[in-house]
Amino acid sequence: MTAFDWDGRVVRYPADRARRYRESGEWSDLPISARLHESALRQGDRPALITAEGVLTYRELDERTDRIAAGLRSLGLRRLDPVLFQSTNRTAIVLAWYGCLKAGLVPVATLAQHRMHEIGHISRKVGAAAHLVEAGLGFDLVAFARQVAEGHPTLRTVLTVGAAEGTHRIEDLGAGIDPARARAFVESVEAETDPQDVAVFQLSGGTTGVPKVIPRIHAEYWNNALLYAQALGWDAGTRLAHLIPVIHNAGISCALHAAHSVGATLVLANPDHVAAFALMAEHGVTDVLIGHGHYQALRSAEFDAVLPTVRRTVLSGAKVPPDVFRRVDDGETRWAGQMFGMSEGMFLASRAGDPEALRTTTVGTPIAPSDEVRILEPGTETEVPDGAVGELCCRGPYTIPGYFDAPEHNAIAFTSDGFYRTGDLAAVHVVDGRRHVSIEGRIKDLINRGGEKVNAEEVEVLLMKHPDVAIASVVAMPDARLGEKACAFLVSATGQTLTMPEVQRHLDGLGVAKFKWPERLVWVPELPKTNVGKIDKKRLRAEAAAPLAAGPTPRGAGA
Ligand code: AMP
Repeated sequence: MTAFDWDGRVVRYPADRARRYRESGEWSDLPISARLHESALRQGDRPALITAEGVLTYRELDERTDRIAAGLRSLGLRRLDPVLFQSTNRTAIVLAWYGCLKAGLVPVATLAQHRMHEIGHISRKVGAAAHLVEAGLGFDLVAFARQVAEGHPTLRTVLTVGAAEGTHRIEDLGAGIDPARARAFVESVEAETDPQDVAVFQLSGGTTGVPKVIPRIHAEYWNNALLYAQALGWDAGTRLAHLIPVIHNAGISCALHAAHSVGATLVLANPDHVAAFALMAEHGVTDVLIGHGHYQALRSAEFDAVLPTVRRTVLSGAKVPPDVFRRVDDGETRWAGQMFGMSEGMFLASRAGDPEALRTTTVGTPIAPSDEVRILEPGTETEVPDGAVGELCCRGPYTIPGYFDAPEHNAIAFTSDGFYRTGDLAAVHVVDGRRHVSIEGRIKDLINRGGEKVNAEEVEVLLMKHPDVAIASVVAMPDARLGEKACAFLVSATGQTLTMPEVQRHLDGLGVAKFKWPERLVWVPELPKTNVGKIDKKRLRAEAAAPLAAGPTPRGAGA
């Protein structure tokens, strides 16, 4: 069978590389749903998922998602129909994720915080057929889904986590279907699936303009997670906690699929660290991935209750402060390492035997045998010597060969031989013949707000839609809790300046997700320029950081 290529909009891996990855076993012939089923048969009544709502065993997870899959298709959804996801970390969102995969539908990893600016664009780009939203949140996502569907050529179905009038509640789907019939249905979908079919659409935070869509395929996506779990030495005795949005590449590949690929138990919490740590302590978690948005929380007294059972902690997203490392690595029973990951693919991770000096300063080594890393002089294809800083570029069995429907961008985002230019700055350190990578900054113009990426150019364009704004330049400013927040330098078009609430109303009116809104405004008569006439963002970043160095900025200062 030939994989469906979405009318030429999906870039295929070159045939010789695909063959190599199949031969090495880094690619699989089985769809993701079959991999979950295999794991569920092995684990039976062992716990697969724990949330604040309760426990699901592997058997329950497998049987319920078979029925949900059959229920989804009975709504008229067709194989390869994309489904937008907007929910917090709930049991039902995991059921919906696997249910969609088993039905041959393609989950789109949008965030609960996204609004019309993002969802309107992405849903049209992929031709979304269904929109799954969580009912009962502060912002009415159900009403929002109806609004998105108005005049939308492909969007036919609203699904909900939790009850809502006139929608299909995911938890109820397929409830009346006989389990054996549901299983036979899922197997029939699997028989139709080509390993190179798109399984999941992830979103990129780090390119120019609006988010790009990342197609991940069955052949590689589950294995990416399995390789990560194996790199960390996880097995069926592992109780892994995850407390950032699960419908995101890190959530799926470092948590959901990774745990289930090795028969581990996933303890899924929400970002509020007090509730998350209590759940983790109650269920005796052994492993946790901590993004830099939670580094501060690790220092809190609430984490004391988690410490007795934690064996391995993976830190990710920013340089690790020494006290944070020490908190989760005592040199004896508790081990800490780092990882680098991106929705486009490439994962690097520390390994059990790596010396502490490498685990505190590097993100480790690639997780797959065929992963390839090159550090290039930015904008060129020239490799820099080991130890020197350049752009991290990668290629391998699970790093995409191209974004979805983005030929112009693909032409600049990849080298001539298919290495993805990450936009991150890195250096290689060779120790005992292994190439450990340190992350040294980035070239791409984004703000990493506690793990959510904010594209500076996207926000600048939106700010400049206001008649009083002539020029906007958005840069990262340091933040103790989230790592970075956005600071906007603005030049007035009319002599009038806007207050923070006025800017917020403007962005809200444009339907922009709140996490992208600048959290400090600085009005200036003009912006500093480099000697080639570009806006000098380096200087703006230094200015944005300065008040913090001098002490806390009064609320609203500069607004
Ligand atoms: P995402 O696709 O949202 O997972 O974001 C991937 C990006 O997050 C990378 O390209 C980096 O810019 C950043 N990132 C991920 N891991 C790390 C890390 N350990 N240190 C610094 N930045 C990181």
